[in-house]
Order: sequence, then structure tokens, then C-alpha cells
Amino acid sequence: MEKRDMGQVTPIHGEPTRFFVASRTRQEPWLVDLEEFGWNGQCGCEGFDMRMRKKLEQATERGQMIELLRCHHLQMAFAYAARHGLLPVDYKRG
Ligand SMILES: [Zn+2]
Repeated sequence: MEKRDMGQVTPIHGEPTRFFVASRTRQEPWLVDLEEFGWNGQCGCEGFDMRMRKKLEQATERGQMIELLRCHHLQMAFAYAARHGLLPVDYKRG
């Protein structure tokens, strides 16, 4: 278990692709969903909203390959899910 994300990622019961990830700047955690955008993932934080969501939506609309656009919270949640065997078998990124 890596020290930096211990206690930072909280699974949501009954929703295997969704997690709460602790924020460094506010008290409430961010809600992330790993399955969104073809397993790029989606996060509720400002960084994701401002810099990543639009690009992902455009790529999805055009049927383009999506480059990975993951904020810190998504990276933590994916690392957590990988360690706990929560990613689908055909998951190929990472
Ligand atoms: Zn985020």
C-alpha cells in the first residue's frame, strides 16, 4: 500500500466504478466515476471541469481516440481500483 493515497480513496457501496477521493483544498471529497469517457474517468473537481471535460466530450462526439486526461483524483482512484482488482478484465490502460 502506497503511503500517499492511504485513506484518500473511499469506495462507494454498490457502485463499483465510483469513489470519493479526498480533496487537498476543501473538506468534502470529490466524486469520481472511473467508467466515464471510455474508462478515462470523470471527476467533480475544478481542474477536471475546466481543462479536461470539454476535450473528452469533443473526442467522444467525434468518435476519436481519447488521450488520457486524468486529474490527481482520478489517478488516485485508478491506482486504488487496480490494487484492489476492481477494474474490468478487458481494461487496457494502465
Ligand atoms: Zn479531480
